[in-house]
Amino acid sequence: MNAAERFVRVCCEIGNFTEKLTGVSVVDAYFGPEELHPKTLSAEKSTTDLVHDIHQTFDALHDEIDDPLRLEYMMGELHSLNAVVDWLSGKDITYSELVEGLFHISMKKFSENEIDKNIELLTDLLQSYPGDSLHDKIQRFGKEGEITGDALQHLLTDELQKQSIKIGQEFREKIFTLMGASVPDNGVQYEAVRDVPWGGYNWYLGEFKSLNQLNIDRRFNKDNLQSTLYHEYEHHVSNLWREKAFLNTRNLELAVVPLHTGRCVISEGTADTAKDFLSVSEDDSRIVVLNALTPIRQMTGINAAILLNDEGKSVEEAIEYLINRGYRTREAAEASISFISPTTKTGKINLFAPYIFTYFIGRRDFVHPSFLKAVQKDVLPEFFKTIYMNPYSGSSVTWNKAFEWM
Ligand SMILES: [Zn+2]
Repeated sequence: MNAAERFVRVCCEIGNFTEKLTGVSVVDAYFGPEELHPKTLSAEKSTTDLVHDIHQTFDALHDEIDDPLRLEYMMGELHSLNAVVDWLSGKDITYSELVEGLFHISMKKFSENEIDKNIELLTDLLQSYPGDSLHDKIQRFGKEGEITGDALQHLLTDELQKQSIKIGQEFREKIFTLMGASVPDNGVQYEAVRDVPWGGYNWYLGEFKSLNQLNIDRRFNKDNLQSTLYHEYEHHVSNLWREKAFLNTRNLELAVVPLHTGRCVISEGTADTAKDFLSVSEDDSRIVVLNALTPIRQMTGINAAILLNDEGKSVEEAIEYLINRGYRTREAAEASISFISPTTKTGKINLFAPYIFTYFIGRRDFVHPSFLKAVQKDVLPEFFKTIYMNPYSGSSVTWNKAFEWM
């Protein structure tokens, strides 16, 4: 068994392990050979065996992988998965050690002062908007964008599909043309689901297609929806290129897409920067307000996750915080909790509890500043080629090295 094969095998077995314990596999997508598919591999390995396999894989990687970026990428991913195993096997790990271990970024609370500055900005934007207080104004603003009943039905059965085809075209015309390259795209199917901890999810199915699910337990807002569609489509695009790279190189590790690694920081970062990549017009007055509100929601979401997981605060205290400082409705605050809470409704460990950091940090500390630099230096074609055609750039561990040329 070569190093890449060992890597895939251990990733998939860890996927089976996390699925058994939490109901969620860390293998987010797999499009490799059948004999290494998670379904054909053991779901019964003990943590001792998994840790042993991880260590053997580390050694094999060191011996066999020559490309330094590829090696660093794979080592980083495996370190993260080692942390997943440690965490779920009950090792005494603090939340901050967990976030650092998984994503190779530091867990940092946002100061209330910084949040206040963003609130001031939003207050100015909504100055002439009707309402007694900022809370009232934001509730009204949210209500106005809400989609329910027939409009929602039409959206889910018809409109989403049309919009996603349009976004696919935008990627081809504005980015792939610039790169002078193309990738097969068999499109995205949309599906409405309930009873899940997230708002939207891109399931990459392989063979260049995806299933995007939207959680209809949450209230639908046409303003947010636009961002969600771009976000989820970018995940699809990034996996298209990954699958193409796998088929070209036959580097097995590209066929497995793990959650909870340095990859996720970049993946969520690029997804949250997709609208910038495509220069989607942002001058609509509702989008301007939303762009001021989003960082407040993201920062308070991260702070609430720290309250719950690090500071031992109660769910009710976190909900209050999300309402008071994040300007959410109680309903929205309660929905957010299911993503960041240490345990699920059924009392299992919530695998997603540390994940919230990837979005904001991925965009702010990695992808967006690099994108701005690429614009300023007039090197966008090379920038996009690095992101999409070099899959080993896509980790918080390798990002800076991959962009050293810039
Ligand atoms: Zn995402």
